[in-house]
Amino acid sequence: MAEETIFSKIIRKEIPADVLYQDELVTAFRDINPRAPVHILVVPNKLIPTTNDVVADDELALGRMITVAKKLAADEGIAEDGYRIIMNCNQHGGQEVYHIHMHLVGGRALGPMVIG
Ligand code: 5GP
Repeated sequence: MAEETIFSKIIRKEIPADVLYQDELVTAFRDINPRAPVHILVVPNKLIPTTNDVVADDELALGRMITVAKKLAADEGIAEDGYRIIMNCNQHGGQEVYHIHMHLVGGRALGPMVIG
């Protein structure tokens, strides 16, 4: 059984977060430490620790994450100029919170993808 993270508490509204969207599959909220004018996290409501733990039954939620990211990009006014979607996995990927999440980042030119 995977250990819950702070994101489960945000999903259940047990701790405050700037939640922008929630449905039965996913939740989206602003990153507490934004690295760009728009920095939103889109997470499945189900605790999936890393992308290594994804199973076929999760495909609906993972697809919903993209649909919601697209909607939020439009809502935030960054769809036309563009943005970046990032998912980090495990230590080498720089993952800090072990509940998978999609970073939706934009609002300025982000430059080339940095793998550093
Ligand atoms: P990772 O490095 O795991 O891909 O990204 C985790 C992200 O979660 C970081 O960008 C970090 O700022 C964000 N984060 C960590 N704790 C909290 C929190 O309690 N609330 C919110 N809104 N974001 C958080």
